[in-house]
Amino acid sequence: MTAEGTIVRAEFDRQNPPAQPPRGADPLLWRLSYQVWTDHQPAVDQFCQAGACRDAFRPWPCPPRRLAMVGLLAAAGSRAPWASLNRAGHFR
Ligand SMILES: [Zn+2]
Repeated sequence: MTAEGTIVRAEFDRQNPPAQPPRGADPLLWRLSYQVWTDHQPAVDQFCQAGACRDAFRPWPCPPRRLAMVGLLAAAGSRAPWASLNRAGHFR
């Protein structure tokens, strides 16, 4: 099952989530997750642009980025946001 196939209460574009929480989403969790999502963007060299990730040479997508999407899914009402990740923390 892909992240796109995860059933949520409040639908949103997984490739481009909106800054404002979608109707029905948890506003606090959405805003926190969105902040992490925007901080951890890919740089031109395919590593994360965030300072902490660059210092650790984390390839894209980094753990905070994946966690941010789990948070967005949880804020949007997914009953099992972690189900969209495999054991290595990557989206299935
Ligand atoms: Zn990162």
